[in-house]
Amino acid sequence: MKKEMICIVCPMGCHLSINTETLKVTGNNCPRGEEYAREELTAPKRVITSTVKIKGGIHKRVPVKTDGAIPKDFNFKCMRELDKIELTSPVKVGDIVIEDLLGTGINVVVCRDM
Ligand code: SF4
Repeated sequence: MKKEMICIVCPMGCHLSINTETLKVTGNNCPRGEEYAREELTAPKRVITSTVKIKGGIHKRVPVKTDGAIPKDFNFKCMRELDKIELTSPVKVGDIVIEDLLGTGINVVVCRDM
């Protein structure tokens, strides 16, 4: 069986096709697409972007993101962890909000000064 997907590794957006039995990938213009398609089929990951509460800032929430991709299955758990956070201004871009999120080795960091 074949599965179609769009490579999101770079703006080229190649249309990939992967054979789910042999894991042979076609349509990629570079090796990163092949790696992306195999990972997407076997263990998909995503960078999470969201916001958390902040006290004393010019807004009530500040944007945050993971500093790397985490397993897609962890998305809801990640959002629950972020919901528990309340920062206090001032914060700077790159400040760590959660270290080693859910044991993934990935941190959640602040995306803007506030
Ligand atoms: S296969 Fe390579 S060139 Fe095509 S979108 Fe993916 S990273 Fe970009």
